[in-house]
Amino acid sequence: KRQVARDVAVQGTNDSSVVSKVSAAMQGYFPDPFLKSFVCRSVRRAPLINRGYYVRWKAVDHCVREFLRGTAGSTRRQVLSLGAGFDSLYFRLHSAGALEGCVVFELDFPDVSRRKAALVAASPSLMGAVQSPTPPLQPVCLYSEQYRLLGADLRELRGVESALMGAGLDPTAPTLLLSEVVLTYMETERSDALIGWAAGLLPHAVFVMYEQLRPHDPFGRVMQEHFRRLSSALHALSEYPDTEAQRRRFLDRGWEHCVCLDMNHFYLGQLGPGERQRVEALEPFDEFEEWHQKCSHYFILTASKGCLTSMPLLPSP
Ligand code: SAM
Repeated sequence: KRQVARDVAVQGTNDSSVVSKVSAAMQGYFPDPFLKSFVCRSVRRAPLINRGYYVRWKAVDHCVREFLRGTAGSTRRQVLSLGAGFDSLYFRLHSAGALEGCVVFELDFPDVSRRKAALVAASPSLMGAVQSPTPPLQPVCLYSEQYRLLGADLRELRGVESALMGAGLDPTAPTLLLSEVVLTYMETERSDALIGWAAGLLPHAVFVMYEQLRPHDPFGRVMQEHFRRLSSALHALSEYPDTEAQRRRFLDRGWEHCVCLDMNHFYLGQLGPGERQRVEALEPFDEFEEWHQKCSHYFILTASKGCLTSMPLLPSP
């Protein structure tokens, strides 16, 4: 019973993420006309939260676009979003015409994927991007030529693998795996197993992960509060407290190359001054210390293998 309650709470993190992403999009941090179809009502979040979601969105978007650019011309490439929740990645990439030769697989708990499929079916603009879907059969919640939405528990890797194979995953194709604030909600041995399983299954792959860190520096007030609310659900923070430990985590499990940047490095190193100025002018803001602290508590990581090892999505720090 306690496990079921925990799983329901973990699924609830998706509702909060999508509301925050809609808030940031509405304030102009990034363009996303699709997300609002996944929420009942929009809420305006505080500027610090909007900026946090901006840098998260930007980091993931950067890595996915670099992968698509680097594999352009490949007639069979794949994006596999683990714990995709109500994220709109497929719909954005589809509308940008960025998915030539690419199939997008999304996986989440069956309840979450079923809810997502129902919301897609209820929205003409989303449904327009899912051309002639085939009536799905469990664990598939939506199946079309370029988009496959599946329900499975990521802690059960045999079930995950058979769901993906049944939905047409091609293990030999260049594949980007995305985990955006997902693995941290699984017990560390399960998430470690998933990282090793993916390396074993896919010879040419890149794993993109965005999530929390717990560096050794003392927490400020804002981060203390942030982690107090989250800490009962978060795992792996003590086993992998910093960016180097996260790198080792992947290198020890079959990945050949790994770069891990905290979000201060990403924000200052990867975004041009023009983009930073644009973002910093969007809302009144004076929480600079909290912002830098928050950025030091999150990271973006890319781990690659096979023919994708020579295609770094992020520069080494
Ligand atoms: N990646 C999405 C995003 O960034 O918008 C959603 C992030 S939300 C914080 C975490 C997601 O991971 C939820 O949708 C949750 O249901 C999913 N998740 C966590 N543990 C999972 C598991 N064991 N199996 C399947 N999905 C899981």
